[in-house]
Amino acid sequence: MTAKIIDGKATAERIRGEVKEAIEKRKTAGKSIPGLATVLVGENPASKVYVRNKQKACAEVGINSFGHDLPGDASQEEVEALVRKLNADPAVNGILVQLPMPKHLDEERVLASIDLGKDVDGFHPINIGRLAQKGREPVFVPCTPAGCMLLLEEAGAQIAGANAVVLGRSNIVGMPVALLLVKANATVTIVHSHSRNIPEIVREADILVAAIGQPEYVKKDWVKPGAYVIDVGINQKEDPTAKRGYRLVGDVAFAEVSEVAAAITPVPGGVGPMTIAMLLKNTLHAAELTD
Ligand code: NDP
Repeated sequence: MTAKIIDGKATAERIRGEVKEAIEKRKTAGKSIPGLATVLVGENPASKVYVRNKQKACAEVGINSFGHDLPGDASQEEVEALVRKLNADPAVNGILVQLPMPKHLDEERVLASIDLGKDVDGFHPINIGRLAQKGREPVFVPCTPAGCMLLLEEAGAQIAGANAVVLGRSNIVGMPVALLLVKANATVTIVHSHSRNIPEIVREADILVAAIGQPEYVKKDWVKPGAYVIDVGINQKEDPTAKRGYRLVGDVAFAEVSEVAAAITPVPGGVGPMTIAMLLKNTLHAAELTD
């Protein structure tokens, strides 16, 4: 079997197009233009790139973005005061606090201070709590996990009743993906660094989501023939033939696993582009909540 390649880039482009069109319609109807505030604390170079990319994507679809950069030694009170100010600003529909924040800050308290209706990253404890509860719905679903679910649906995976295995249990990816799969009626196993017999567990998966940050960790003989594989990992692998001296690989050995899976996301071009697309969608949704 040769796997179908799940084209996250194409799906993300389609979503961006839909968001752009919806914003144009809002303008014609005299409704507000959605606004996203980004909060970046410190000088983490990767975070700066992520924030810049998010602001660029906003501009492309017609979302206003407001960048707030605080120094790396900003106090808890300063960060929370900024979030409170943004909570009260009607031009701001979504607030994105770029993670990770410097170690001296209490991330949980900062995230909890974001207005629930502006929590476009979906990391507010109440949003995550609702994700974990039966019959409750969060206002916003975290962007990368939402992107994984959409790609699974578009690939035609049968989620209800499937055995799903999620590698990783981070707050950002693994745990919310697992909760979303449970909501979609899959039977879910979560694997983490203390798990035993990982290949055996993975072999039971009809749906596999890998989010552990270990290059090409999942091998062909771990994967059930016909499985749907979503690879969230983004890892640098040394490659002297590449211009930068490395290339990006996922947590799954793509070439060999493609020989057995029914469908698989590539890295890059799979889950990666979905994160920003879902953020734009959430920001539009936040504006719609205020109509
Ligand atoms: P974290 O480092 O926060 O979490 C990694 C998780 O994997 C932890 O739960 C850890 O277990 C588990 N883990 C690590 N090594 C192993 C192992 N050898 N066996 C079993 N479990 C293991 O990572 P993130 O969730 O933030 O990110 C995961 C990957 O996804 C990274 O490559 C990251 O770059 C990528 N990513 C991609 C995004 C995108 O496409 N847009 C967005 C976010 C992340 P334990 O809890 O026990 O420590």
